[in-house]
Amino acid sequence: MPMSNPSFAIKGRCPGALQPMASGDGLIVRVRPPLGRLSAAQALRVAELAQQYGNGMIELSTRANVQLRGVAPAAHAPLLQALAAQGLLDADARSESLRCIVLDPFWQPDDGLQAGALALQQAVLGASGLDGLPPKFGWAVGQPQRPALASVSADVRLWCADGQHWWLQPDGQAQAIACPSLDTALAAALALARWCATQARARRAQGQHPGRVARLWQADTPQQLPLPPGCRWQASPVPPHDGAAPHHPTPGAHPGGHWLLAAPLGRIPAADFARLAQALQAQGGDAGLRITPWRMVLAEGAPPADAGRWIADAHDPRLRVWACSGAPGCDQALAPTLALAEGLAAHLPPGVQLHVAGCAKGCAHPGATTLALCAQAEAAPASDPLFALIDQGRADTPAQAHRAYHRASALLAQPALLQCPP
Ligand code: SF4
Repeated sequence: MPMSNPSFAIKGRCPGALQPMASGDGLIVRVRPPLGRLSAAQALRVAELAQQYGNGMIELSTRANVQLRGVAPAAHAPLLQALAAQGLLDADARSESLRCIVLDPFWQPDDGLQAGALALQQAVLGASGLDGLPPKFGWAVGQPQRPALASVSADVRLWCADGQHWWLQPDGQAQAIACPSLDTALAAALALARWCATQARARRAQGQHPGRVARLWQADTPQQLPLPPGCRWQASPVPPHDGAAPHHPTPGAHPGGHWLLAAPLGRIPAADFARLAQALQAQGGDAGLRITPWRMVLAEGAPPADAGRWIADAHDPRLRVWACSGAPGCDQALAPTLALAEGLAAHLPPGVQLHVAGCAKGCAHPGATTLALCAQAEAAPASDPLFALIDQGRADTPAQAHRAYHRASALLAQPALLQCPP
C-alpha cells in the first residue's frame, strides 16, 4: 500500500499507525486490523514488531485495535513498512481516520455482519462530504440480540438481526432508522455521517469543539436527514446505553469453537500474543484472532494448553480492574498505576470493581466503579504517591466526596483499607 507522510501527535485526532500519539515512553502506534481480525501470521508478526520496535507489550484498545507502545520516533518509518507488508496499514491518514469500525467479534460467516461492515468501510472510504467529521467518529456493527456492543464507544451503531433488515442508531438515541436492505442502510449511514460532518464544521467555524454525535443531536435533527426510499424512524431494537456498568462477555469457550481470552488490564506481553498465534497456526486452516473492544481477543480455535499471561478464567478478579498507563507511560500522570492495580486485584471482594487512575481524567474507565483510586498532585514529587479513595464514583469525583487518602505502599501492605468502614 502507498504511504503518506506520517505526522506525530495530532491533538484531538484518533491516533493510528500513520498518526501515532506521543506519550511519556515514546510513540503509541495503534494498528487497526481490517474489520478487527488478524490472521495468525499477522498476529505473529505484530508480536515480533512489538518486541523489535516497541516495549514488548501489546495493548488492546476499547475500539478493538492493538497498540504498540514505547516506539522511538526513528523506528516509526521501518515499523510502518513492516505493517504495510502485512496489509495492516492504510493508504493515507484520511482513510485511517475514517476506517473506524468495530465489528461484533462474535460474527458468523452467514449472519451478514462481516459483509455489512466491509460494505460500510468501502462506502465510507469512497464517500465525499465527510471532511471535518468529529475526531474519533466511529461505527459499530452488530446484532440487537448481543447488545454488549451497545456500550462500546461509537457514534452510530448498525444493527442487523436477520442478514437483510438494518437499523442505524445514532449514539444516545432511542430511535433508529429502519432500513429494508443493506444498500439503503449504507445510503442512510452516509447521510448521517455527512450531516455530522456539516455540524462539526459549523461548530469549528464558531470556535467550538466539534463534539460527538450525541452532543450534536437536536430535537429537529431527524427532519434534516434525507432518508433513502423505504427507510423510516422507529424505536431502536436496542435501547441507548444508560451509563451503567456494561455487561461484557467473559473469557472461556464460546459457540463456534472460539475462545475468549482477556489481557490483564488490557495489556499482554508480546511473547504471549505470539504463543497464541502460533497455537492457531499449528491447528492448520485459516484460524485467526478477532480483537474485541473488551480487552480480550477471540481466538478462532483452541488456545495453547498454557495460556501464559492471558486470563482464561471468567472469575479472575483482574477482569474487574482497570488502570491507565500511568507514569511513566503518560506524561500527564501523577503516579504509576499498573503495579498498584495488579497488586490490589487479588484482594477485591467478589463483584467489586476497581479503577486506578493516574490523574482525574480517568482514561481507563469513563464511568463510575465500585471503588476508584485517583493519584493526587503533591507539592513535592513523591516516590510513594498519594491516592484518593472514591466510593461508587469516577476518577474526577470532587474532593468533597473522596472517602480517604492513602499512600500506594499503605494500600499494598493493607488492602483492607479499600473496604468500606462498617
Ligand atoms: S488518566 Fe491521566 S494519567 Fe492516566 S492515561 Fe489518562 S491522562 Fe494519563
